[in-house]
Amino acid sequence: MTVLEIIERTIMNEIICSTRVAKIMATAIVEELEKEDFELTKDTATIRRAAVPCCQNCGRDFISPELVYFAPIDGNIVCSECAQIHQDRQLRFYVREG
Ligand SMILES: [Zn+2]
Repeated sequence: MTVLEIIERTIMNEIICSTRVAKIMATAIVEELEKEDFELTKDTATIRRAAVPCCQNCGRDFISPELVYFAPIDGNIVCSECAQIHQDRQLRFYVREG
């Protein structure tokens, strides 16, 4: 099964809908993931790792692991709260080294 097919199947298992509706929803989800800079291949959905240990806007230390954001407008890695003002943002994953 491809990532798209897994998402489709999950939608159909969770809510009662036609194959067609599930396909439309799954395609929309994949498009959103790609906007957030997920790399999707046939078998995997990968997310890039954030290299900085704290928010470059408010200074809060990230909890490992934490989903954070890259803001292309200023090149900063920020926490989800600080990312809310950014329309253009990409999801990143922070995990402490070692
Ligand atoms: Zn912040």
